[in-house]
Amino acid sequence: MTKENYTALKTLLAKPQQITLVPHQNPDGDAIGACLALFFFLSQKQHHVKVIAPNNYPDFLKWMPGSEEVVFFEDNPKEATKFIENSKLIFTLDFNSFSRIGQMQQCLEKQKNSATFVMIDHHQSPDDYAKFCYSDVSMSSTCEMVYHFIENLQETANINKEIATCLYTGIMTDTGSFRFPATSSTTHQIIAKLIDKGAENSKIHQQTLDNNSYNRMQLLGVALNNLKIIPALHTAYITLSQKELDDHHFKKGDTEGFVNYGLSIKGVIFAAIFIENTHEGIVKISLRSKGNFDVNSFAREHFNGGGHINAAGGRSQKSLTETIAYFEKTIKNYKLLLTDEN
Ligand code: 5GP
Ligand code: MN
Repeated sequence: MTKENYTALKTLLAKPQQITLVPHQNPDGDAIGACLALFFFLSQKQHHVKVIAPNNYPDFLKWMPGSEEVVFFEDNPKEATKFIENSKLIFTLDFNSFSRIGQMQQCLEKQKNSATFVMIDHHQSPDDYAKFCYSDVSMSSTCEMVYHFIENLQETANINKEIATCLYTGIMTDTGSFRFPATSSTTHQIIAKLIDKGAENSKIHQQTLDNNSYNRMQLLGVALNNLKIIPALHTAYITLSQKELDDHHFKKGDTEGFVNYGLSIKGVIFAAIFIENTHEGIVKISLRSKGNFDVNSFAREHFNGGGHINAAGGRSQKSLTETIAYFEKTIKNYKLLLTDEN
């Protein structure tokens, strides 16, 4: 965004407006953190703000300040649509295309000509719907970008404890606790400032990460037991069937982070997890890599998905067995790229 863009936005925000904040479907810590941080930031300025998420998010994020304010489009489409239709500004956070918001897609498409859209996002290939588009794929997280956004509005003085806590949580979750490659010295500097603004760092890690249920731990045991390695391709993958999920009373968020166990194995540079969802008739796929192997391209080409170079996701309409067979066959074509020299 240009300096002129920020000046124009400042003018727009000078008067109270009705504003909708939207995260992607199945929101994660970064998407919800960005929405709630902006919710507090804009509410302070007397705007009428609502966070409207396509659907629910995992329990381990429910401790976040403002969590009880989030409206789920899925549960309340009429009320949500009405609020969106009357919103002058719509912020879309942590996604690059309306195809990432599930059943909210149609509703937002309709607002393209009447509302002003602000996109803040770090995914590749952003769609062209936002008048104000702050897109940067080098950023660790959308929450880091929200900090820069507030900085560019020259309003960091308004960052209070709630805002700091939400931004800290988003940066922490999207960087795998500050270890993924997009974590920069600037990321750490921002984290330091957020702690100074009241984010209780140790408590945030505890509330978010030491919050496992017994069922989730048992399911992790199943996932690790199912893990397969293809040494020649430096690849590891995990499968979880619907029955295995049901046996452990699966709840949204329970499989979060499982894919990283594959990547933690010595010599592995490409890890995947395939999770069967018979209700939706799909297999949900998460992909992770180390180094130059581009899982975003892989997800786009083979699994109707996308994401970032080292973290992406997608889906398959085939059965779990067929999906795995397809995956095993396909990755053989990537032998040259799947070397451990990455
Ligand atoms: P996860 O594997 O944690 O669900 O997602 C990893 C990354 O890939 C996230 O940045 C997420 O936005 C992206 N991603 C996950 N699933 C999909 C998908 O179905 N389509 C697209 N375009 N991106 C996805
Ligand atoms: Mn993100």
